Amino acid sequence: MKMKSHSGPQGGGPLRDQMLAVLGPRGIVDDPLQIESMTKSWRDSWESIPLLVVQPQSAEEVQAVVRICAALGVSLVAQGGNTGLTGAGLPSADRNEVLLSLRRMNRTRSIDLDSDTMVVEAGCILEDVRNAARAAGRLFPLLLGAQGSCTIGGNIATNAGGINALRYGPMRDLVMGLEVVLADGRLWDGLKSLRKDNAGYDLKHLFIGSEGTLGIVTAAVLKLSTLPRSSGTALVGLDNPEAGLAWFRRLRTRFSEQLTACELIERVCIDTARKHIPNVVDPLDGRYPWYVLAEIATAEERADLEGPIGEAFAAALDAGEVSDGVIASSITQSNELWRLREAIPDAQRQEGVSFKHDISVPVSKVPEFIRVANEKLSAAFPGIRSFAFGHLGDGNIHFNPLQAAGEAASLWKSRLDEANRITHDVAVALGGSITAEHGVGLLRREELSFYKPSVDLDLMRSLKRALDPYNLFNPGKVLSKWPT
Ligand code: FAD
Repeated sequence: MKMKSHSGPQGGGPLRDQMLAVLGPRGIVDDPLQIESMTKSWRDSWESIPLLVVQPQSAEEVQAVVRICAALGVSLVAQGGNTGLTGAGLPSADRNEVLLSLRRMNRTRSIDLDSDTMVVEAGCILEDVRNAARAAGRLFPLLLGAQGSCTIGGNIATNAGGINALRYGPMRDLVMGLEVVLADGRLWDGLKSLRKDNAGYDLKHLFIGSEGTLGIVTAAVLKLSTLPRSSGTALVGLDNPEAGLAWFRRLRTRFSEQLTACELIERVCIDTARKHIPNVVDPLDGRYPWYVLAEIATAEERADLEGPIGEAFAAALDAGEVSDGVIASSITQSNELWRLREAIPDAQRQEGVSFKHDISVPVSKVPEFIRVANEKLSAAFPGIRSFAFGHLGDGNIHFNPLQAAGEAASLWKSRLDEANRITHDVAVALGGSITAEHGVGLLRREELSFYKPSVDLDLMRSLKRALDPYNLFNPGKVLSKWPT
C-alpha cells in the first residue's frame, strides 16, 4: 500500500497537523496493519491510496474533520467495517483522499422500549446492535453474513438487505431517523423516532443508500421489532427454480408475514461450500439440482410451526413441486442449515474466478432470469458453470457463474464486461436492477450510466450538486461524471 509522504502518516503537513490538533493522537491511524485492513477490500482488488486515515470519536470531531478537508480542498471517504463489495468505501487510486473511519463511534445512545427504537452511533457493529436489542427483549432484524464486521453506518449507506429483508425490509425500512454531517460541516439532526411525520421532504432517505456520497452518517434511530419466540426452518430439494417459486408461493400463502426468509440455492453452491468451509453438512440424503431454505418465525411462545410446515411440505410433494426435504427439529439443526447458506459467499471467493452479479427482478421472473441468462452466457462462454443463490422471496439472486474448468483465469477476467452486459441486459429486460443490495460504488458505476434513464441520472446529479457542491464526499463513486 502506498502513502503520500508529504502529508500522510509518515509525513507532516498542514492536513495532518490540523487533524492532530482536533482529534489528538488516537484520532490518527498510523499502524500499518490497521491501515491495511482498512484499505484492502474483502473481495475484488481496488487500489487504495489514502492521504491520511482519521478516526474521530464524536459527531463534533467528524464536523471538524469535514471542515478541515473542505478548507484544504481534500476530499474524503467514509468507512465502517470495510465489508462493502463495490469498492465504495475505499479511497480512489488517483485521488488524494482522507479515509474517515467511523469505527470509534460505537456507542448505543439509548433504547426506548415503548417506541421500539434504539439510537446508535454509526460505527456500531451490526452484530453488537442485534445483541443489545436482544438483551432488551427486542429484535433488530437486519441479518447479513458480514454482521460481525459491518457497521450500522455502512448498512445505512449501502441500504443493506440480507436474509430477513423479505419480512422486515432492507435498511431503509429499519431506519427512523439520522444524524448526518453535511459537506459544509453542519450537523443535520434528524434523530426523530416518529412513526408519522409528513412535515416536508423525508430527508433521511436521501442519505440511505447514498454510499457516502452525500453526507457522513454519525448516528441513527433504528426501528426494533418483536423478538420471535418460536421458529421453524425447512429445506427442500427440487428440480428447478420454477418449483422453488411454487414452494415460496405456498409458504407465503400459508404463513403470510411469518415467512421471514426464503433462499434459493443451486446444488453447486452446496458442493462449493462443503469443499471450502469446515462443518458444512449435506442437508439431504439425495442430491437435487436446486434447494430452498426457508425460515418461519412468530412471537408466540412454543408455537407449533413444525406441524403446519409439514402439511405444506406434504401438499407440495403431492403436487410434484418438491422432491425431498427436512424440517429442523432443533436449534442446532436449524443453525446447521443456515451455516450452509452463510458459507456460500466465502466458499465461492475461495473457489476462484467467477462473474459476480447481484441482480433483482420481479419475484415472478426469477426462474426466467436464471434460465435465459444461463442460456445466453453458455452460448458466449462454452463450458461456463451456473452458480446461483440468494433471496428468492425478494427477487434478488446472486448470479455468479464459474469459469469453465481448466480455462485460464486471465482469459476469463478479460471478458468480464461482456459477461456483465449479457447478464444485466437480461435482468433489465425483465424489469430488474443491476444491483439489488450491494450498491454501485466503483463496480457498477459505468453500467449505472448505461442502464439508468437520463432523467434518473440528471436527478441524481442535481442532488449531489445540491448537497455536496465541491465534491468532497467520495468523489467518483456511484456517479462517474462530476455534475456540471
Ligand atoms: P463499508 O464497507 O465500510 O462502506 C460501504 C459504503 O458505505 C461506502 O460507500 C462507505 O463510504 C459508506 N459508509 C460507511 N460508513 C458510512 C457512514 N457512517 N456515513 C456515510 N457513508 C458511510 N450486503 C447486503 O445488502 N446483503 C447481504 O446479505 C450481504 N452479505 C454480505 C456478506 C459478506 C460476507 C460480505 C463481506 C458483505 C456482504 N454484504 C451484504 C455487503 C454489505 O454492503 C456490507 O456488508 C455492509 O452493509 C457494509 O457495511 P460496512 O460497515 O462494512 O461498510
